[in-house]
Amino acid sequence: MRAAVLQAVGDETVEVRDDVEVVGPGPGEVRVAIRATGVCHSDLSAMNGTIPQPTPAVLGHEGAGEVVAVGEGVGTIKLGDHVIVVWVPPCGTCRYCLGGQPNLCTQVMYSAGLTPRFVVGGSPAYGFAGTGTFAEEVVLPVQGVVAIDKDVPWEIASLLGCGVVTGVGAAINAAKVRPGSSVLVYGCGGVGMAVIQGARIAGAAEIVAVDRVEAKLDQARRFGATHAVVPERLGGPKDEITEGDGFDYAFEVIGRPETIRAAYDNVRRGGTAVVVGAGRAEETVELNAFELFYSEKTLKGTIYGSADVRTDFHRLLRLWKAGRLDLEGMISDRLDLSKINEAFAKMRAGEAIRQVIHFGGAA
Ligand SMILES: [Zn+2]
Ligand SMILES: [Zn+2]
Repeated sequence: MRAAVLQAVGDETVEVRDDVEVVGPGPGEVRVAIRATGVCHSDLSAMNGTIPQPTPAVLGHEGAGEVVAVGEGVGTIKLGDHVIVVWVPPCGTCRYCLGGQPNLCTQVMYSAGLTPRFVVGGSPAYGFAGTGTFAEEVVLPVQGVVAIDKDVPWEIASLLGCGVVTGVGAAINAAKVRPGSSVLVYGCGGVGMAVIQGARIAGAAEIVAVDRVEAKLDQARRFGATHAVVPERLGGPKDEITEGDGFDYAFEVIGRPETIRAAYDNVRRGGTAVVVGAGRAEETVELNAFELFYSEKTLKGTIYGSADVRTDFHRLLRLWKAGRLDLEGMISDRLDLSKINEAFAKMRAGEAIRQVIHFGGAA
């Protein structure tokens, strides 16, 4: 079958091959024929080493598809089910899962990530983040899929699996944005646009989007930003909305020390800065000891939208069906797997919101 393979960390391109095999399903696993998969910035982060990933690896982690084989002992998922792929599968029994933070569960994620799920040219290969959705088929632990209604289009379902749950979840689960509050969002890629939508759904009064790419500013307004500016122009809306005080919430959706620091600086005393972007382990953010005490600000991270995918995917789909979450509008391109390296180039240039790869033609 076809799949896009990263040979080694540091490579700038992936290789689309047709001699890839998938292993399994074994007990407790399912095999899923991927129908649509989004191209997410984290795929680039695996290529450049920001996110640790053993290689060779089939990339892709934001996908949806149909269950085509079920391993022994799998009771909850059936042949033919339509599912969203989950890259933090909740084990269901650890203290995080039982304590309402299943997005922090590592019980299944680590073992899935360290098990070679593919064979490429006769050698074992891993799936990115334990998934590997840039492939016609993947094998996943049963906790790594969530079944959804069959009338949801594949491309809509695929987006939920990473970018949308991460961004909307950052606003509604991690920050718990209050109605009538002011929100600042740094970075208007797919996840940033989802943060803007999450803040809008939560009832924020003002949402200020910041991005270096001018073309994204108009798009940010389309998703609910009330103001959209390049970084140098932030002072205007900040003064207008907060009298220079700072925003109630700021979201950093890039993963760089400068913008994390800027997010912290641009929330008011007592406000909340949320780091959504995945930064590099060797990069540090400086905060002085006095400001931590005196400003009483909250600086918090969020991974995978601080979500419980078992319920949040359905919650997000209801918002989409009700017309309150725009998912169609987030898809900037539809393409075949053979164009994956062009898709990466577009993402590096900041020219895409979400590019979706379709397998088998149908939407
Ligand atoms: Zn768990
Ligand atoms: Zn992602």
